[in-house]
Amino acid sequence: MEYNPIKKEEVSKMSVMPNLLDYEKAREDFRWEDISKELDELDDGCLNIAYEIIDRHAKTSLKDRVALYWEGDNGEGEEYSFSDLCRLTNRFANVLKNLGLNKGDRVFTYGDRIPEIYISLIAALKAGGVIGPLFSAFGPDAVKDRLGDCEARFLITTPKLARIVEKVVEDLPALEKVIIINRKNVAYELKEKEASYEDLMKNASDLFDIEKTDKEDYAIIHYTSGTTGKPKGVVHAHEAVVGHYATAKYVLDLHPDDIYWCTADPGWVTGTSYGIFGPWSNGISQVVYEGGFRASNWYKVIEKYKVTVWYSAPTAIRMLMKAGEGVVAKYDLKSLRYLCSVGEPLNPEAILWGNKAFGLPFHDNWWQTETGCIQIANYPIQDVRPGSMGRPFPGVTATILDENCEKELPPGKEGHLALKAGWPSMFRTFWNRQELYESKFQNGWYITGDRATMDADGYFWFVGRADDVINTAGHLVGPFEVESALMEHPAVAEAGVIGVPDSLAMEVVKAFVSLKDGYEPSDELRRDIKKFAKKKLHAVACPRKIDFLPGLPKTKSGKIMRRLLKARELGLPEGDTSTLEE
Ligand code: ATP
Ligand code: MG
Repeated sequence: MEYNPIKKEEVSKMSVMPNLLDYEKAREDFRWEDISKELDELDDGCLNIAYEIIDRHAKTSLKDRVALYWEGDNGEGEEYSFSDLCRLTNRFANVLKNLGLNKGDRVFTYGDRIPEIYISLIAALKAGGVIGPLFSAFGPDAVKDRLGDCEARFLITTPKLARIVEKVVEDLPALEKVIIINRKNVAYELKEKEASYEDLMKNASDLFDIEKTDKEDYAIIHYTSGTTGKPKGVVHAHEAVVGHYATAKYVLDLHPDDIYWCTADPGWVTGTSYGIFGPWSNGISQVVYEGGFRASNWYKVIEKYKVTVWYSAPTAIRMLMKAGEGVVAKYDLKSLRYLCSVGEPLNPEAILWGNKAFGLPFHDNWWQTETGCIQIANYPIQDVRPGSMGRPFPGVTATILDENCEKELPPGKEGHLALKAGWPSMFRTFWNRQELYESKFQNGWYITGDRATMDADGYFWFVGRADDVINTAGHLVGPFEVESALMEHPAVAEAGVIGVPDSLAMEVVKAFVSLKDGYEPSDELRRDIKKFAKKKLHAVACPRKIDFLPGLPKTKSGKIMRRLLKARELGLPEGDTSTLEE
């Protein structure tokens, strides 16, 4: 499918000179060592993420800049400057040290997006802990699996979620302290192992000597989204901040006056890499919104805080599309100047819609929990080619490898997307699964598990996850292409495409679609969608069957779980569903 590029000159609001002005030159000149020099070091060459994102700004004229604009679920607002965060994280680092935290101990958070969760995570890094942020919508098994897997010693949570923790605390012998944040001061009786965040903070000192961590010391454990199987504990080192800093500067194009909003929760890697580390290592003000998705509430946040740079995800953009342009028109969103998206393939239709609704296209970028920071991106200085993930970040080498992951393929050929190993935020291991980690590398390449093509200009195009690609009548069909074509049909809100076994063709394409408001499933509509798809797609890629669903199964981070569609279709076990959005 061909879409016309959105010319950068046509993007009306590119009012700010981008940080990356010459892509080719940046690629030639780029050295990660130079980027590291833009950060500060602790004494003796030590590096600690917490220092880079907060304390170094608290020593400069940035100290009074608002680091965090917090918008609570009920419209309450709070502001924290870099020096406020420095002081509060010092306090909580003292709390953790006083409770006996040793360097390398795992400290988990399990709570909504409230300031104390952010403070706890940064404080734990200061104290030399390894942080594990959990999404508040997890159930007891998800909590038990993750804390148990890496033998967490400390957990910070809230009264509401402590009830869930209670159910599994007996199964977590390594867990020593559960610290309860009770910001609304609800009636709550502390149980064995529990302590009050507020009481501990009251008596702690404002001064703290940051733990002298090495750049290779482990800092973060993030469990993957679980889209293709059981979530893996991806481990990152303190050096990752070099990648967060550089990509927030050159891909998200953050400038000193920006008000930035990343909609992701810190329970997912986007919510830490770009909801904590990226913006704050650049000394930028950011908004954190506690509430969940609702188009009108999101636009209200943009309007209230005059958000300039907005980083979101395809699933959210598709929901905004579903809500329609009428809602957009009710709000003053002219502060927006730059939009980015990550997490799933961004359908061209969504880019075109964004351009119409906001006068700005979403800039897609690609990365994974394992890569720690953005690897392939669309930049403000380039035309947006709808459907493409863009070009590799200047310090990153990406390629397409053949079926055996041995040879690099020329432009236009589809294969395994691979990255030259060794960028700063590359994961250091999968927790407790070193063998699995090693299996991801071949001849110096990290094999991402995604399939893609590269065009003659070096733009990468996502085809699908290796697990999801459909083998039909001797052709490999990527679900993304089919889903994007279906989404262009006026009735289709979302589409998930899988391969189902077929005696002749090996597999045939089957699509599950959910409809926009105002459309009802019918045989006639099914026929119409099929006819529409035929006009857009190669014959083998056209869905042979289409089922209507009220909604598609998704991870809590919003990704379509094709493996579940497939398991349900074939009556197979569903596997790990700890990240399934209910
Ligand atoms: P799991 O590894 O547990 O199956 P996951 O791969 O969804 O879950 P993440 O690390 O959160 O976990 O997601 C990374 C994956 O998301 C990528 O490998 C890719 O498949 C998909 N992805 C992310 N951004 C994009 C994008 N811009 N275009 C296409 N796919 C993307
Ligand atoms: Mg993955």
